[in-house]
Amino acid sequence: MRTLITGGAGFIGSHLCERFLAEGHAVVCVDNFITGRPGNIHHLVEHPKFRVIVHDVSKPLYVDGLLDNVLHFASPASPVDYQKSPIQTLKVGSLGTHVTLGIAKAHGARYLIASTSEVYGDPEVHPQTEAYWGNVNPVGERSMYDESKRFAEAMTVAYHREHGVNTHIVRIFNTFGERMRLDDGRVLPNFVGQAFRGEPLTVYGDGSQTRSFCYVSDLVDGIYRLLNSDYHLPVNLGNPAEMTILEFAEEILRLTGSHSRIVYKPLPADDPRQRKPDISLAKRLLGWEPKVSREEGLRRTIEHYKRKLAAK
Ligand code: NAD
Ligand code: UDP
Repeated sequence: MRTLITGGAGFIGSHLCERFLAEGHAVVCVDNFITGRPGNIHHLVEHPKFRVIVHDVSKPLYVDGLLDNVLHFASPASPVDYQKSPIQTLKVGSLGTHVTLGIAKAHGARYLIASTSEVYGDPEVHPQTEAYWGNVNPVGERSMYDESKRFAEAMTVAYHREHGVNTHIVRIFNTFGERMRLDDGRVLPNFVGQAFRGEPLTVYGDGSQTRSFCYVSDLVDGIYRLLNSDYHLPVNLGNPAEMTILEFAEEILRLTGSHSRIVYKPLPADDPRQRKPDISLAKRLLGWEPKVSREEGLRRTIEHYKRKLAAK
């Protein structure tokens, strides 16, 4: 088996590269390093079945040889990252999805696109089921990301319906773990970095907004199962254990043993008030549910950052 993974040098992509190599696949990683890092795949480059193509996947790409699977994970994913590069984000979700669907069609490969809970916007249905169409501001500060992913889903189902490509869509809810960039601006790296440095933890708004955090190995396992299923409509993957951001800050302080204070900063525009996946479909279809508790996942992630900082 040979599998192409775009965004393979990113946080989730690098874990996917590892998983597919461990399953015996040859892996072709395509990345332009806009938000990913060579260090994320450094340990894989000597692997005889691993190849890296440095390329912006919003531009045409032709890959030699057979391909059995194409996974499109390239996209800035942190609000800070995608707001810094709005046009690149819109292009990789639209043109990049078109390019990668074209590759899957040409190779007769299975296809899987990384969509997101952001397609639900600031949801009025809670928890979010796949049947909910969402509440998205098309011109808001998150629109470059939300709308590119909504377009990506539409393009993917069109390739399935018109060309019969064997497509799959995963709607990923907040996922964390080793190799998130400490400076990517997302809540976990922000809080852990601040706790390590003894700086105040910056809670946006009053901290009552909720998220549900899934550890990366669980997500990767769900993706692997979905890719090998015969289901073509979107599937939520995430950990339904919901908490407020203030509770999350307190948990990070406890697990890092930090004495940092908590300070409150303005809530960014269009920040979803609540988010929790309904994973009944994934349970039924894939026999999947998260196995690693948030606390265990956080302990592993914090240890990883400690080792990284100690090695500097
Ligand atoms: P990340 O920023 O760590 O990884 C994204 C990778 O894509 C990076 O390596 C980046 O360099 C690469 N990339 C971006 N644009 C590219 C382009 N035009 N050409 C080639 N490579 C490009 O982010 P992540 O958290 O690993 O997210 C990966 C995917 O999962 C994204 O598609 C994201 O939308 C989706 N997702 C992630 C989460 C999460 O909680 N982490 C939640 C929902 C969806
Ligand atoms: N957040 C916060 N402090 C930070 C970074 C983020 O309070 O330093 C909040 C943010 O406003 C949001 C939640 O944490 O409500 C999750 O933010 P993140 O950027 O990780 O991802 P999102 O789920 O919003 O895409």
